[in-house]
This record gives sequence, structure tokens and C-alpha cells, in this order.
Amino acid sequence: MIMVVLGLLNFINGKGYFQQYVNYEIDAFLNIQTHTINGFQKLLYVNNSPDSLSEIYFHLYFNKFEKGAYSEKGDLRSVSEAFIDIYEIKENGEQPRSYDIFKTLMHVALIDTLAPGDTVVFNFDFGARIPYASSRYGYLADHYSVGNWYPTPVVYDKNGWHLHQHLDNEFYQEWGDFKVSINVPKGFIVGATGNLVNADIALQDTSSEVYDWYLTNFGETDTTTTWKFEAENVHDFAWAADPEFRYIRKHWNGIDINFLVMRPNYNDWIKETKAGVEGVRFLSEQFGPYPYKQITIVDTYIDAGGMEYPNIVFINTNLGPASDLTYFRAVVIHELAHNWFYGLLASNQTEYEWMDEGFTQFAEILAVENIFGTENNYYRPAYDWFSKLFPTKRDVRSWSHLQVLRLAKSTREEDAVNTMPDRFGYGVGSSQYDKMAKILFMLENVLGTDVFWLGMRNYVKEWSMKHPQPDDFKSCMEKAAGTDLDWFFNQWLNTVKHLDLSVASLKNIKSDDEYVVQFEIENKGGIHMPFDVLLVLENGDSLFYHVPVDYFFPRVEGRSYLPEWHFSQKTYKQDLLMDFKAAEIMIDPQNALTDVNKLNNSSRYIPKMDWHFMTPQTHAAPVDKYIWETWPGIFYNNIDKFKIGLANYGSYIGSDHLFDIKVWYKTYTANVDFSVQYRTPIRWLNRTGIFSNVYTLDGRQGADIELRTRYNSAALFSLKVENYTLFNDSYLAYPWQRGTFNTINLGANYAQSADKVYSAAVLNLKNALQGSEQPFGTARLDLKQSYYSKYSDYVLDVNISTGLGSNETPLQEQFNLAGGNGIMEFGQAYYRARGSLPYSWRKKGHLVMHSNAKVRGATLYKVASPAVLNNNIIVSSIEFDFPNLFYLMNISLLDFFENSLFYDSGVVWSRGTPPSYRQYLKSAGISLMYNNFYSLSYIFGIDNIKLDFPLWVGESFNEDGFDFRWIISFDFDFSTNLFYQ
Ligand SMILES: [Zn+2]
Repeated sequence: MIMVVLGLLNFINGKGYFQQYVNYEIDAFLNIQTHTINGFQKLLYVNNSPDSLSEIYFHLYFNKFEKGAYSEKGDLRSVSEAFIDIYEIKENGEQPRSYDIFKTLMHVALIDTLAPGDTVVFNFDFGARIPYASSRYGYLADHYSVGNWYPTPVVYDKNGWHLHQHLDNEFYQEWGDFKVSINVPKGFIVGATGNLVNADIALQDTSSEVYDWYLTNFGETDTTTTWKFEAENVHDFAWAADPEFRYIRKHWNGIDINFLVMRPNYNDWIKETKAGVEGVRFLSEQFGPYPYKQITIVDTYIDAGGMEYPNIVFINTNLGPASDLTYFRAVVIHELAHNWFYGLLASNQTEYEWMDEGFTQFAEILAVENIFGTENNYYRPAYDWFSKLFPTKRDVRSWSHLQVLRLAKSTREEDAVNTMPDRFGYGVGSSQYDKMAKILFMLENVLGTDVFWLGMRNYVKEWSMKHPQPDDFKSCMEKAAGTDLDWFFNQWLNTVKHLDLSVASLKNIKSDDEYVVQFEIENKGGIHMPFDVLLVLENGDSLFYHVPVDYFFPRVEGRSYLPEWHFSQKTYKQDLLMDFKAAEIMIDPQNALTDVNKLNNSSRYIPKMDWHFMTPQTHAAPVDKYIWETWPGIFYNNIDKFKIGLANYGSYIGSDHLFDIKVWYKTYTANVDFSVQYRTPIRWLNRTGIFSNVYTLDGRQGADIELRTRYNSAALFSLKVENYTLFNDSYLAYPWQRGTFNTINLGANYAQSADKVYSAAVLNLKNALQGSEQPFGTARLDLKQSYYSKYSDYVLDVNISTGLGSNETPLQEQFNLAGGNGIMEFGQAYYRARGSLPYSWRKKGHLVMHSNAKVRGATLYKVASPAVLNNNIIVSSIEFDFPNLFYLMNISLLDFFENSLFYDSGVVWSRGTPPSYRQYLKSAGISLMYNNFYSLSYIFGIDNIKLDFPLWVGESFNEDGFDFRWIISFDFDFSTNLFYQ
């Protein structure tokens, strides 16, 4: 009732702020046979608003799982997994005027209009079916983690109702008090929001013997225990129950930090309570005290990494301390931090997710650094022997910063931070979490530490247990800074512009015995920000300056200021009188800004570089350096025998200016091969990438350059100009014509996944250019269609390829009925030269390179070359994947085999119309594919091995009918591979 008075006072004070008050009394009964809750809920609702309400809306979140509800992807759900049923609703003891439910929202028309200050009591009789372990809550066996499970009023605030259908995104609820009785089978341990008020009774019957007894006697009376919880000043109530839970209880400053851990994980968790305890300490000290008596951290079966509720957080058991230690720590701290940003500052997350996740991410980074140090506090988990041997070092701050840059540099369309999460497109996490966290770090840099933390702490204090809006945070910061910050918030929250400051020039002009150091900085991005500058003089002195964006902007003590930079100026020029020449100027030396290209932030011509030997660092790259990784390699073919090499991978933030330089020393022939590949996205040419190669490899040399541009998520176009020469045919494993060829290639790719259907089409046009051994042209179209059954156990693949080529098409460019042609084989190191894969298999026709459609078995017979290789082709493969037989037999090692039946048919011909279907080569049989190579895929680039058994071949083969025949093909995925091109 105190809240009623407070709310009215606020309103009377003329602030215009109010919040409704709710008081719940819920009796909940868990049925572990049907995974349902029966609930009796008394809800007192006080209208503190200045408006009269004739209707009230409620959230029924569980209906998001119901058949016909909107799913996150925008389509309608077709399965009914969980739901909430309202059996009865009473308004002050009577039937309301009317109520209707539409998916996750319920509308109630009141009998009596609720005037300002009026109170209404609702009684709900409801049933809720809990979903199977989902992203935020659910059951698995007899484990229950339960959130968003009871009818709760939609928030009515100064902006009115917020009627969002729930798509599994965020929550926004009214403040109030709860008394909840949870009735569970004896033996279950329960943790919840608020405080357990009958610990003496509830904790009596929790031995596992009692639970066993319960299971065998289910249905008897007196088999349940009632756990009673009371919570004051919270906006949601969640709980978890499991007979296997064990308690760990820690304390800090009068607060209980409870851990509820599933029995098998107890020994791991008890050693890792530091993140929980120290997390509460740091967050309380840094942002403001935690005002509740306890917080419970629960080991649960949820899909998300973690999920926050007031006083209770759920952690995904799969990232327990044993499997993923630093991530576990970060997730625990993240969910705890939500108990400030969300728990205490109940912003409207359904509209401003960044007020919740961004602030939480910011707090997480600070807490992880405070508790576990700034270095290597977020290392990549060692999930196989390769990553154990060659660990990737990361820290949470630069990892988060890297995600912001990758979002900015993605060729996908970006949404402004201030976008409703339900309507967000690509990169919601990188934006709402990482970018917003970085925006707060930038604000700290703009305002200086003291002012920023004064504003931040005032915000937490002033808006605790309320519903802050974006402007409320801005006002707190403006008040602390004593200035206007619209320019800052507007740029970062409401636009998708990027920040890119660049050093345009640095000059030293001699004047008497001094120097005029003259520098110019260019704003290449759209965002205008104050920045730090580091000037390094020839005598080794370092001078720091700060360039503000406004003359009146308050000065931070200890900073040396240069004159202001107005946003209308494209460049910033400055002359400084120095005793020595300036050797270097650097913008933002401390990486305070999300500058999307740090390589142009210095006057050096060659950017700062890091070099790593046998350390995978590309994907956890520093944001301000170009990095190189060097790896040794060894390879084999029949001609050179062993080749010993070095592979060098260069990149900026893992995505820009990628170099792949390899040099091989060929031990038997005492020669050197090399290849250089360069690729980078060209962002001013929207969604375009450039790819280029220069090489001498296995008897061939050449160069090519390609532009690839993405039209939309489904379509991609490419243009490639290529030159290659065969100068030594001893390497050849495939028929190939000597000489030089210059070609131009036009490609169009289309790939689209619809519900249970995947379609892809690739069109390739190639024509010889001037300087080729002979003129030729080819056109090829590959079509693929896959149909999936409900759980992808059964897949039907239909592949069709057709190709037309002119008469002079060289052998390596002709179409191969059995698989890839010479050019395709050259593109894969293993097929490029004799003997890297067993050449005897190759000669007998057992070893074949994959292609879209092919006739398996066509290489096994001494059919004359025109029968498999020619200028024109038409071929189709139909494949039917069915559930793994070994899986059904429960042989777990062999689980990863995929098996299918196939039917292939096709023909090649030299000119004129295609032969009749009678003359097609046909085969059918069974396929086995293994694709679970873990670390081997890093080292050998191997993706899968496929064994095909064309047990039947058609009459066009000289030997028709049934026989045992086998074909093997290896597929390599060089995107993850370290050594080979
Ligand atoms: Zn979060």
C-alpha cells in the first residue's frame, strides 16, 4: 500500500511519473506427470495513473508456444507445446463485462470503470502447461525452471498500454508484491524470487528416499510440500524445482547468495562461487546496493546461456564450470547484472532492449575485469585436442568490441540501436548488447570517469523500482555533465552511421629552432565524436590531447584540450609549436571509440602488426592491429614427394584485408611453389567482395581476380577474369590440355530455404579471351532441391546439372559425368596432383571428386573417354537420406554416419542434340557419409568422406546389372583449414 501513496505523490508533485501497483497471492500446484501448473491467483490492481480505465490487458506468455501463435521468425507455430488456459476470471467477485484472449494477450472489459486511485481485485483460476526446456524456461525429466507462467497485467504508463505479442523476446511488467505458495511433490527443492518464509517445513522432506516414495505412490494424498515465498517490490516471480538440487549458500554484506545445483555438477560449482559472490559485491559497490535479502543462481536446462528474473537467475547447465569456465563466469555475472538493469531498473525492454541488455553487458565487462583481471578472462573453450594444444586467448572487453566492428562491417543491413527487439533484423545481439555497452564506454570517455559515474549512479538511485524511459537516463547524464547530450545519444541510438576518423596528414615545418607540427584529421564516417590524440615526438616524448566537439563542453580535469571540432567540418586541422619534430600522430590510442577502421588512425604507412606463431588469434583479433598467424605445413604428392611449407594468414579484425600466403619447398624436385590469396570486402561497393590469387602450384601457374556481389540474402553474382598455364604435365591426375588460357566467368548463385524445402541454382558462363590457346565457351546450370521431413530424419535431394560447351572446349574445362572436372580438381589441393590421395584408386576409377549431380560408377569401367567427358552434359542424381542405422542400433561411435539411397542418370555428348534416355549411363545404390572430424578438419581441411556403392548399373554400361562396386570421394572445407589452399 505504500506504493499507492508514493505513486500519487509523484503525480501530485507534477513530475508526470506514475506506476501502477499490483499485489499477487498465488497458490500453484505442480503436476509432474503432465508438466502443468494449476494456479489460483488473487491480484489486487491499483490505478495510480491520472486516467480512468475501463479495460485492462494481461500477458499470457506461455501462449507463445501454442499452435497459431506468432513465432520469432514471423510465421505461425504449427505445434502446440505449451499454453496457459484461463478457466475463470472474476472482477471483485463477479464476471467481468467480457474478456477475450488473442494469442499471448488477454483483454478484459471492466464492469466498473477504474478511476484514478481506485483498486480492483481479480481472481484467476488458471492452468499452465510448461514447455519442454526452451530458451528461457521449461522442464526436462523432473527438472523445472519456470518463468513468465501466470497472468500478469500489461504495463500502463505515461505512454499508455504496451500491447506487444510475445515472440520470446523481452518483458515489461508492473511493480508490486508477491505471496506465492508452490506445491511440489515431496523431495523437490524449490528456489524462487523473494524469500522462503516456511523454511522449517519446506526443507524437512527433501531426502531422495522421500522422493522415491512419492514416485511409487503418486496419487496418494499428503504427497506434496508447500514452499511459501514472499517478495516485495519486484516486477516478476520465477522459480525452479528439482529433486536433485543441492544448496550452496554464500553471503556478502548481509545478502544470501544461493546456488541451486544439480547433484552431478555440485563438485564443479562449489569451486566456482566466486563469480556469484564477487559479482554481487562489485555490482553493489559500482552501481548501487542490492536491496533484497537473497539472490539464487540456478543450474537449469534452458537453451539460452542464462536467463534473468528478479532475485533468481537460470544458468544453462551445458556451460557449467567444467565445460566452459570463463563463459560460465561471464554468464553468471551477466545475469546477476540484470538484477540491476531489469531487476531494479525495470525499463521497457519490449521497446528498448538496449536499456536492459546493453547496460547489463557494460556491467558484465566491468565486473569480469574487476574479479578475474583484464587479460584472457574470456578464453575460447578447449573443446577438442587441437584447441587445447593451440588455445585462443580472449578478453571480454575486446571480444565485445570486435562484435561491434563486425556488425558495422557486415555487408548485411544494420538496424539502429533504438529499434524494437521484435522488429530487429540482423545482429540483434551485437547491437543491443555489444554496441550499446560500447556506447556507454564511449560516454564515459566523453564525460570523464567522475562525471559519468556520478550520472550513472544517480540514474540507478533515482530510477530503482521504477520504469525508466530512455530520456530519463539521458537527463541523469545531462544533469551530471551540466550540458546537452542530444548530439551523442541521437547519433549512436537512432542512426546506423559509423565512426571512422583518419589521419590525413602530419607535417613538421621548421620555424627558427622550433617546429610547427601540422596535422589534419578527416571524418570519413558519418559520426562526429570528440577524440583523444597521441603525439609522439622524435625525442620519444608522448603528448596526449583531447579534441572536444563543442566550445562550451565542460572540461575534465587533467586533460589537455585542443580547440573544438564542429560537426559541420569534414576535417580537423591543427598547428602545434614543438621543440622537436613529431614522429607519429595517433587518434584514439586507447581504443575508446568504435572506430570502424583503426588502420588509418595513425600517420604510419604500415599499420601496427602482431605476429603469432601457431596460435589461432584471427577470430579474437585486437581491434587496432593487423595480425599475422604463421603455421608450418607438410604435404605429399607422387612427384615432389614431401613438400614442406609455411602458411601465413593476415587479417584486420578477421574480416578485412585477408592475406593467405603459402610457400612450399618440394623436397624431391628441389623446387619452390607458392600461392598468394587476397580478399577483402569493398564496403563502398555495397555487399561486394574482391578475391584474387597468384600462384605456381603443381605444374600450373596463373592469376585471377574476382568480384562477388550479394544482391540479397538469396542471390549472389560474380565476375572473374582468370589466366592459367600448364607447363609441367607430370603432376596431372586428370586430362588437361597444355598451354595458356585466359577466361572470363560470369556466375549467378541462388539459394533459398523455405519451410522444409531448400532450393539452390548456380549458373556459370565462361568464355575464352584473347591470348588463349584456342577459343571456347561453356555454360553450366546446376539445380538442387532438398525436401526435409519434420525432424530432418528423411531428406529427398534432387540434383540436376546441364552444360553446353563449344567444340574446342579443352579437356580440363569439359563436363565430367562422374564428378568434378579438371578446373574444379585444381581448386582442391588434394585432387590437384597425383598421389596426394591414393593414385591407384584414382587410376581404377574408385576415387572421384564430388559435384552437384553425377553418375556414380561411370569411372569404374573402361568406357571410352567421350562417355564420361565431353562438351555437353545432362545429368541428374536423386538421393534419399534416411535415419542412421547405427544410431538405431545404438552404436554411438557410428552415430555420425549419414546413409542414403541414390539413383543417377546422365549422358555427355560432343555436338548436336542429346542422345535418347536409353543411351544414358544409369546407376543406383547406397551411400555412406562420415562428417565428424573435429580437429582433423582444422589440420586437413576435411569436411566429409563419402563411400558410394553403385550396386546396380544400367545397360549402357558394358557390364550391366548387380555387382559389388565402390567409389570414394573426399570433401574438403578450406574455410576452416589451416594449411592448404
Ligand atoms: Zn542479458
